[in-house]
Amino acid sequence: MSKTIIISNRLPLQLRIDNNSIETTPSVGGLATGMKSVHSGSDSIWIGWSGLPEEKLDKNLEELVANALKKHQCVGVPLTEYDIDKFYFGFSNNTLWPLFHYFMEYTEFEKDTWDAYYDVNQKFADVVIENLNEGDTIWVHDYQLLLLPEMIRKKKPNVSIGFFLHIPFPSYEVFRTIPYRKELLKGMLGADLIGFHTYDYERHFLSATQRILGHEINFNNVHLDNRIVKVDSFPMGIDYEKFYNAALDHDQKEKKEKTEIQQEIDKHYNAKLILSIDRLDYTKGIANRLRAFEYFLEKYPQFKGKARLVMLAVPSRSDVPQYQILKNEIDQLVGRINGKFAEVSWTPIWYFYRSMPFENLIDLYTSSEVALLTPIRDGMNLVAKEYVASRVDKKGVLILSEMTGASKEMSEALIINPNNFEEIADTLKFALEMPEEEQIKRNTALQKRLKRYNVEKWANDFMEALENTKTNAKKIL
Ligand code: UDP
Repeated sequence: MSKTIIISNRLPLQLRIDNNSIETTPSVGGLATGMKSVHSGSDSIWIGWSGLPEEKLDKNLEELVANALKKHQCVGVPLTEYDIDKFYFGFSNNTLWPLFHYFMEYTEFEKDTWDAYYDVNQKFADVVIENLNEGDTIWVHDYQLLLLPEMIRKKKPNVSIGFFLHIPFPSYEVFRTIPYRKELLKGMLGADLIGFHTYDYERHFLSATQRILGHEINFNNVHLDNRIVKVDSFPMGIDYEKFYNAALDHDQKEKKEKTEIQQEIDKHYNAKLILSIDRLDYTKGIANRLRAFEYFLEKYPQFKGKARLVMLAVPSRSDVPQYQILKNEIDQLVGRINGKFAEVSWTPIWYFYRSMPFENLIDLYTSSEVALLTPIRDGMNLVAKEYVASRVDKKGVLILSEMTGASKEMSEALIINPNNFEEIADTLKFALEMPEEEQIKRNTALQKRLKRYNVEKWANDFMEALENTKTNAKKIL
């Protein structure tokens, strides 16, 4: 029987070693949820790293881990601490992540991290080949595994391979600066179908392929010597019902048992809440947002005491120096702005540096009149979609950076340039004063689309398109 093999850097579970036994907790992130419909039944496996480096496992534990993973239809790829350091923190997060988000000044080109990236992709390929049968379908995810499709193809030329990139693909002029540009493109082109969140990323990839490798491009097909690779956009959705239903529940519960955050929010009901949620990452435009909010309070002082920015920044990659510098910058900005404007009964910014449980996220989504999301670059931005899905009364205004993938599908939001403080300040005022009928009109249209193009549809559309490449390739060749 043929099966589907999903491959991502991390497996969709957290493992914890407890007194020689293994505890597993399934992840609840976007990808894990999205793949539920693909990774169900007995005909699929998921290959990835377990989160435990080899050095932490003796023979006995290794076997326990493998068995625990097997129960969840998962297979681990053994990685050492050196691999994690050079492949993950090194080439993936210090080269590909900044470069693909247009942060060229943060991009490091190091031979040893590239070598480790190659070797780890090969380790993944070895585990895939061990678990692969003729007729299986493979779906590879994200920027940590750009070389994997070609490595699998070399060993198994006839297998069906899909690849999806969850971050932006940069324009040719930026992509060309990377020394390993040919290897990376060839790696991706091992797939039959390459998916991106937006048409722009797709276009950038096609242009880089044509100019760097000289392949003929026909519409969105790349013609190789003996194969055709299809390139398309599949904007990732969210689990709409999960957010909508949680927000409905929240409405009912609110009358009885309130969370601490909700009680605090209620005490300050006279100030409208402007929400932002992101990982603390330089791509997210957090410092920009703070400066723009400061400018807004200066330009429109009538909002002092009447509006408050609630900013949740989730710790991320905190061992990397650039992230530490950013954290200091943000701490200082928040302190300075709060010091400058605070009144006895009002502080302009509530700042949380931590992650929050799901129910608190729902508290924030449902209580905030405005969401202000200002990334400098963002492949998609799921928070924008989750905010809208949680607005069961259809009120609330989304202000969204034009540099996010999500802005391409959410034209009813107020779209801003994250570098334009004047525009952000004016848009904030406009949002805080928007009549309810207009809010409802915009959110009705947005919700309809989010409900239809949910994450399950995203996964199914991709799998269907991958299936179609089998028949189409024959026709075109
Ligand atoms: N999120 C979370 N805990 C938090 C804050 C956020 O799990 O304390 C989730 C949020 O619900 C969203 C994801 O983190 O699903 C962030 O996804 P997004 O696409 O916005 O950004 P990314 O972090 O993937 O760049």
